[in-house]
Amino acid sequence: MKAAQFAGYEIREVSVPQTGDNDVLVKVGNAGFCHTDYQVWKGGNGSPYPIVPSHEPVGTVVAVGPAAQAKWKVDYRVGVILFRHACKTCIGCETTEDIRYCANRDMAGLTADGARSPLMCAGATVWAGLHEAKVEPSQPIGVIGIGGLGSLAVQLAKAVGHPVVAIDNRPERRELGTEFPLKADLVVDSQDSEAIAKCVPLGVPTRGCQFNSFDLIFKTLTIKGSLAANRIQTEEMSKTVAKFNIRSHVTTIPLGKVPDVTDLYMDPHLKGRLVMNIES
Ligand SMILES: [Zn+2]
Ligand SMILES: [Zn+2]
Repeated sequence: MKAAQFAGYEIREVSVPQTGDNDVLVKVGNAGFCHTDYQVWKGGNGSPYPIVPSHEPVGTVVAVGPAAQAKWKVDYRVGVILFRHACKTCIGCETTEDIRYCANRDMAGLTADGARSPLMCAGATVWAGLHEAKVEPSQPIGVIGIGGLGSLAVQLAKAVGHPVVAIDNRPERRELGTEFPLKADLVVDSQDSEAIAKCVPLGVPTRGCQFNSFDLIFKTLTIKGSLAANRIQTEEMSKTVAKFNIRSHVTTIPLGKVPDVTDLYMDPHLKGRLVMNIES
């Protein structure tokens, strides 16, 4: 089969993965390009090379392992979350039954070959972040950065009843705050946004996050981590997306253009999410 493979985005022939007892094999149709993919490409994650990138694919099931056949069938259309192969024996698995906390899990496109669409990482990540914030639905939420994640965060927060302020310093991105039927209540141009009560950072800058310690103490701020999303959260997010007709602004590129994906991603005027069409 053909796949994009690091190091450097190249299209190469690679062997089709073996389907284990509990696995399904998915023929990827589209795969989103996330900032994490950019960081993997830059070498910041310590990922093994060569690796098939992306943790945001959607596609069609083409093979099902014997132990998975009660739930999965060939031809199902599926989206794939970041985490897979929970060991079911480590402390994280035994105490939480949440694959995000398994010490031995794979992360598609980061620690092992991957390939997802905007909802599977961007949508799922902001959905889990909204829940980690534990803000009452009537309370306002500020979304800082209206890119692939932020434009979905605006719509998902509106869907569950929050007044929303969309904050970004780029005009193309501020447009995304009001592009869809579920619009931000206020769009703010700011490079110096400040959290008022709780902040849930969802990006993973390689140099870490910096916060003003005086603000943290004197404004009694809460900074809360949130790790992507598990399967149940992703299913809840998908139902909300369908119910409220939530949409992503995507720029789709064919497989032949994938070697240019990192340049396209770094275009300061890029709006929304880049999606690689693997079937083309
Ligand atoms: Zn991602
Ligand atoms: Zn485990």
